[in-house]
Amino acid sequence: MVEEIYPHIYYQNGILEIEGVKAEKLAEEFGTPLYVYSRKALEYWFSEFDGAFKELPHITCFAVKSCSNVHVLKVLKELGAGADTVSVGEIFRALNAGIDPKKIVFAGVGKRPDEIEYALEKGILMFNVESESELYTINRVAENLGKVAPIAFRVNPEVDPKTHPYISTGLKESKFGVTLEEAVDLYRKARELKWLNPIGIHFHIGSQITEPSVFKEAAVKVANLVKELHSLGIEIEFFDAGGGLGINYNPAEPPIPATELAKQIVPIVKELGCKLILEPGRRISGNAGVLLTRIIYKKERENKLFYIVDAGMNDLARPSLYGAYHHIIPATLKVSPTKTADVVGPICETGDILAKDRELPLLEEGEIIAILSAGAYGFTMASNYNSRPRPAEVLVENGKPRLIRQRETLADLIAREF
Ligand SMILES: *Cc1c(COP(=O)(O)O)cnc(C)c1O
Repeated sequence: MVEEIYPHIYYQNGILEIEGVKAEKLAEEFGTPLYVYSRKALEYWFSEFDGAFKELPHITCFAVKSCSNVHVLKVLKELGAGADTVSVGEIFRALNAGIDPKKIVFAGVGKRPDEIEYALEKGILMFNVESESELYTINRVAENLGKVAPIAFRVNPEVDPKTHPYISTGLKESKFGVTLEEAVDLYRKARELKWLNPIGIHFHIGSQITEPSVFKEAAVKVANLVKELHSLGIEIEFFDAGGGLGINYNPAEPPIPATELAKQIVPIVKELGCKLILEPGRRISGNAGVLLTRIIYKKERENKLFYIVDAGMNDLARPSLYGAYHHIIPATLKVSPTKTADVVGPICETGDILAKDRELPLLEEGEIIAILSAGAYGFTMASNYNSRPRPAEVLVENGKPRLIRQRETLADLIAREF
C-alpha cells in the first residue's frame, strides 16, 4: 500500500521511501543528518512549472540560491533550465553544471566590479541592475573589457506579497531594485551609455507567495512601464517576473498549481510581445528534498516532551530564522497515539528548534525522522556554527542513491586556518 506525502516521497507499507529507497537505509548508508533529493521529484516540479508557460517563449531560470548542488543543477539543466544567480559563486556553479550562459541572469543589490567582470566574460544573458550607481559600474567594467553589457532594471512594484516580512522584497521600504518612478529616467540614461544594452525588465516581489493575484498586480504595473519604454523607443525583449511561488509546507494542503501563476501573468506578457523569464527556486526544489535526522535523546519534563535530534539550526536554519513550519514524519509509520513535543537540535541556542509544540506519534531514541520540504533553503543556508561539519547530500535516481556531496569532516573545519 502506497501513501503519497509529496510526489516521489511516500510510505510503502508504512515505510518511508524516497523514489524507491527507504529513508532508514539512506540514513544507515550515508549517516545523519542527511539531505536527500529525488531526481524524479525535481523533474516533476520543474515540468509542472515550466509546462504552465508553454504557450509563451520563455526561460525558466532556476534560483540557484534555493538549492545549489551542482548535480541538482545538472538535473535541471537537462530539462532545459537556465539559472537565476545572485553571486559569482552561483554563476560558477551554474556554468559547472553546463547551463548555457545565455540562460543565466544575475541579480543582487551589491555586485562587486570583479563579479561584474566575471559575468561579462562568461557572456550571461543579462544583469538585473538594482541601482543607478551599479549602472555606471557595469558600464565602466564593460568598457574596460570592450564588451557591451546586456541589462535589465530590477524594479520594485510596491506590492505586498502577503508573506513573511524577511522574504518580502517588493515593498516600498525594501532595499531591492529601483522604484517605478525612477525607472524611465534610468532606462534613458542606460540607453545613452555606450557599453550598456537595456534589453529587459525584472521584478521579484518575495518568496513563498500563496496568493497568485499579487503577481498580476505587480505584472500590470511593470507592463505599464514597459509600454512607456516602448513608446520611447526602448525595446524591452525580456520580461523577467522573478520567482516566489509558494509551496505547501503541509502535505495535507494542496499546492497552488503553477497554472494559477501562469494565468496571472501570461496574458499580460503576451500582449507586450516580450519573452518571459521566470525564476522559481523553492517551487522546484523545496518538496523534492528532505532532511533525515536521528533522534539522539528523548527528554521528558512535566508536560513537556523534547526529541533531541542530530540536525540543528546550522543544518536547517528556516525554523529558527523565520519561525518556518516544516512537517515532520517518522521513517516508520506509527499507529500509536500522538503527543505534543518539541523537536530540537544539539546547538547551544534556545532558538535551535525544528518544530515547536508539534503533535507527533510517540517516537523512540535511535529512530529516523524526515523533516520535509527541506530541498529549498536547506543545505544552502547550512553553516558550521558550533563547529559542526555540514551534512552530506544524496540524490536518488530511479531507486539508486548517489552521494552528491560528501559529509564534511573535522579536518574540513580547520582546513583553511593556517
Ligand atoms: C530568491 C530569489 C528568487 C527565488 O525565490 P523563490 O521564492 O525560491 O522562488 C528568484 N529571484 C530572485 C531575484 C531572488 O532573489
